[in-house]
Amino acid sequence: MDTGDVRIDNPAEFPPQEDTVERLWTPQRMTYVLRNSENRPTQPKTKECPFCAGPKKSDEDGLIAWRGTFVFAIMNLYPYNVGHLMICPYRHVGMITDLDDAELFEFEKATTLAMTVMKEVSHPDGWNIGINQGEVAGAGVAAHLHQHVVPRWNGDANFMPIVAQTRTMPILLGDQRAAYAEAFQRLAADFGLPSDVQH
Ligand SMILES: [Zn+2]
Repeated sequence: MDTGDVRIDNPAEFPPQEDTVERLWTPQRMTYVLRNSENRPTQPKTKECPFCAGPKKSDEDGLIAWRGTFVFAIMNLYPYNVGHLMICPYRHVGMITDLDDAELFEFEKATTLAMTVMKEVSHPDGWNIGINQGEVAGAGVAAHLHQHVVPRWNGDANFMPIVAQTRTMPILLGDQRAAYAEAFQRLAADFGLPSDVQH
């Protein structure tokens, strides 16, 4: 489709696909693809670890949806799917085996809270949840542990490649963060978690 300078993807080029086990790991593939394309989102110039830098900013600037005692929830700048969230420890450690018991408990408890938040905010039909441990396994930021929580909707596979390339994603991210943050604050106590811990 020729529309001058604006590229519009043809949905017919992204036919529906069956979900397979392989798709569980595609979020990282998309991050990798975007990083190596001309259309990649602007990367921060600082070399500081993004998961250490994020909580130092305001919730809005850092795209933080929730702050717990040991872990926090942050929007993925390079989402595979709308509403892609990550649970990270504040501590800069790479492996889930590096977490102590209190961190590990909140890390997983926050993951279940995130699922419940998504249920209320956007009613997904399913989720991809997982951790890539080490660069060889596809971790974009291997040095700082993060658990992906990716909501899925029936039939989403055919339009996600288009959504991931649109320029409107940053606006969606901000709106999504605000909607998540409200639900996190409201629901955290049901999970025995603090609603908002300032560090
Ligand atoms: Zn870090």
